[in-house]
Amino acid sequence: MVMTSLRVRRHRLPVWAWVLTVVAVALPAIATSRAQGAATGCTVTYTTNEWSGGFTAQIRVTNLGAALNGWRLEWTYGGDQQVTSAWNAQVTQSGSAVTAVNVAHNAVLAADGSVDFGLQGTWRTADPAPTAFALNGTPCGGTASPTPPATPSPTATATATAPAECAGATICSDFEDQTGSVPSGPWQTTAPDCQGTGKVSVDTSVAYSGTRSLRVDGGAGYCNHVFAASTRDLSSVGPVVYVRMRVRHTTALPTNHVTFVSMPDAAQGGRALRVGGQNGALQWNRESDDATLPEQSPAGVALSTPLPTGRWLCLRFQIDTTAQSMRTWVDDQEVAGLHVDGVATQNVDGQWLARRTPPRPTALRLGWESYGTGDDTLWFDDVALGSSPIGC
Ligand code: CA
Repeated sequence: MVMTSLRVRRHRLPVWAWVLTVVAVALPAIATSRAQGAATGCTVTYTTNEWSGGFTAQIRVTNLGAALNGWRLEWTYGGDQQVTSAWNAQVTQSGSAVTAVNVAHNAVLAADGSVDFGLQGTWRTADPAPTAFALNGTPCGGTASPTPPATPSPTATATATAPAECAGATICSDFEDQTGSVPSGPWQTTAPDCQGTGKVSVDTSVAYSGTRSLRVDGGAGYCNHVFAASTRDLSSVGPVVYVRMRVRHTTALPTNHVTFVSMPDAAQGGRALRVGGQNGALQWNRESDDATLPEQSPAGVALSTPLPTGRWLCLRFQIDTTAQSMRTWVDDQEVAGLHVDGVATQNVDGQWLARRTPPRPTALRLGWESYGTGDDTLWFDDVALGSSPIGC
């Protein structure tokens, strides 16, 4: 079949704004591109979120033919993209040729039905969206005129209650629903082991979005730890858990070990998978065996980063629950030393990979835990967690 009408659209989304009160907050624009072809067989919409060296793609396949029980979508990359992970499809790549096959729960694709899946990958020199697809061997594209997909409105409606880009995620919280002075409803104060001077509160004077955020007054000394825990059960989120949050620290990460994100981990019998600092730099820590990422050698620490103080930063990370694979970004810059890629690298993830069982986070706790010295006053806002990538 000859494709006579195939349109590639590449645009940058308009700046989002959402209105909660009198404050309208502009979010960073998300670069997207879409390739679309309509045909007798199928329509594919391919939407990317691209950054230097990496990208994610959300792919929607609409079946214009007879119902399928088992589907396979194929395309060829025009750049040097390399798929590194996928969700809701099994994706394999040979050279530039990519094949995505259904997983068990989405094998049936009805006539006029659609299926969504996604992938993440890397690129070096070019990342053009693919322009031709085939569904079960039948090319998508053809004589039909493609209808451009609906693009997001440049301004979200005034009824939005949360940042639009995490709507539908398991956790999507801007804390604007917190009307009391301490966490309530979907956030609950917890000090799992002992309780001291640390406290969490709802702050109405410092916020990244709207007028409210979560404030943590974290003290030094283990028993001054305190957290606000989301009430959401994360046990079924995945296979990759994606997390995005805004964090504002007052004090630089100390030399001694501290934690500000703690996730009970079923793979550690409920002990915590932690994000915090040590030797002045961001790090992961596993409570059960105290493994750190990166390893705390000078070379390992140098592969991580201190955190800025006095301003909001965007912290993002992803945790694969099916293989030892984790990545971490600060303000959209990937932190090289906080990348578990499954192959032990000296000074980075060798110690981490001593355990082959990947994490299985079951809950999210935000707060402060010190194991000696080190205190901080910090804030969290626009916290999101789900099974799909969430941008800053
Ligand atoms: Ca807020």
